[in-house]
Formats: sequence, C-alpha cells, structure tokens
Amino acid sequence: MANFYCKWCGRKYSSVSSLTAGSCSANPDGKKHELYEGSEKSEYTCKFCGREYSSLTSLTMGTCPKSPTKKHQPAL
Ligand SMILES: [Zn+2]
Ligand SMILES: [Zn+2]
Repeated sequence: MANFYCKWCGRKYSSVSSLTAGSCSANPDGKKHELYEGSEKSEYTCKFCGREYSSLTSLTMGTCPKSPTKKHQPAL
C-alpha cells in the first residue's frame, strides 16, 4: 500500500484525499497538508541547504537558514 506524505510536516497518510482534508500547522500559508510529490526514500535532502535526514518528519521539524519559510523543505 502506498504512503503519502505532507511536504510541510511529514505526516503520513494512506490516501491523498485524507492528507489534503487535514489542516497543517507547518504550512506557511496556514491551511491544509500538501502532498510531497517525490518518491519514498531512505534519505531526504533539503532543497535549500542540502542537509540529509532519515525521515520527512525530522527534515520538516528543523530550521533552515537558507529557506524562505525558515524550514527545511524536501527535494523531490
Ligand atoms: Zn502537513
Ligand atoms: Zn535546509
């Protein structure tokens, strides 16, 4: 079964419809979870600073000095 992740907070959902239905506190626009469109990986890289994390949750929790939102964001 496929897993779908929010690109802002890293939460995992079993369907895109349940993901996009929930509100996301980490989304800088302050609305809903948004789908991370990359594939599932063993390491996730921040597209702004290049740091690597073993999960999307740990990536999205960190502060990024190079990101316009001040948070790391996953590269696809
Ligand atoms: Zn989210
Ligand atoms: Zn970063």
